[in-house]
Amino acid sequence: MAGRRQGHSGSATRESRSRADSTAIHQAITAAQAAGIGPLTSHTGLTVRLPGSGDLVAYLADEDVDVRDAKSLAEAERHARAQAWAYLEVFRSLPGAENARIVTTGPQLGVRESRHVLTRKELSDNFALSGTQDPGMVAAGAWPVEYHPGAGKPSQWEMIGGPGYYGIPLDALISRDTPNLFAAGRLLDGERKAAASLRVMGTSFATGQAAGVAAAQHSRRNLDLHAVQAELQRQDARLPL
Ligand SMILES: Cc1cc2nc3c(=O)[nH]c(=O)nc-3n(C[C@H](O)[C@H](O)[C@H](O)COP(=O)(O)OP(=O)(O)OC[C@H]3O[C@@H](n4cnc5c(N)ncnc54)[C@H](O)[C@@H]3O)c2cc1C
Repeated sequence: MAGRRQGHSGSATRESRSRADSTAIHQAITAAQAAGIGPLTSHTGLTVRLPGSGDLVAYLADEDVDVRDAKSLAEAERHARAQAWAYLEVFRSLPGAENARIVTTGPQLGVRESRHVLTRKELSDNFALSGTQDPGMVAAGAWPVEYHPGAGKPSQWEMIGGPGYYGIPLDALISRDTPNLFAAGRLLDGERKAAASLRVMGTSFATGQAAGVAAAQHSRRNLDLHAVQAELQRQDARLPL
């Protein structure tokens, strides 16, 4: 599906040694919402204290956005930045963080999903979830389905069955109608749940490497599945064939 997918807008606050664990942050957000402070879309998220500076990185703000639509994207960017300031107020309510300030926010929204390249083989949800092995495999996908249904809603997780990974075939990387176009990473063609597993960084590295090898062979007019697999093995790709 191309459309409503949310991104996080990361913000960082610098403060003295405040009590900023997830329980305290959750309680502070709930109290702030009750007091009419906002916009605040999420009660929980990821907060990490950086070594060295002691700054706190907070991934809290979610947005529903259709990045194919400039108006939707502009509105989501504006709303996310309003959220960053509202979350700053939340942090300032924590003991020891009264003087917290924003050091930086992300330059743009992070987007989990928008368009996909239509490839010769779209990966179905069942293909990924059942841990399907495919003789045409050129990369492994092992991350669970991690679907984010919308702003402020909890992520939905489903583990990969079978051996715990599925084999991504070469045909899943080749455009359906443009033979010299290869897809990798987040662009890959998968149904909703399959795409929610395919999109992560480790799998993007693996499919990117495979797409690169295949594209190089295609440019020499000798694209061949077994040669792609052999070259990936030679490059020490994690290809359990
Ligand atoms: C909020 C958020 C949190 C996430 N957390 C995690 C996580 O914890 N772990 C994880 O594994 N994944 C996570 N992901 C997913 C992961 O970050 C992405 O799905 C993944 O990085 C996609 O990789 P990619 O190579 O397909 O695309 P990208 O990493 O976006 O790479 C595409 C590159 O192409 C470049 N580019 C674009 N257009 C052009 C052009 N015309 N010419 C040249 N270059 C161009 C871009 O600048 C970019 O560098 C998260 C995503 C989001 C949004």
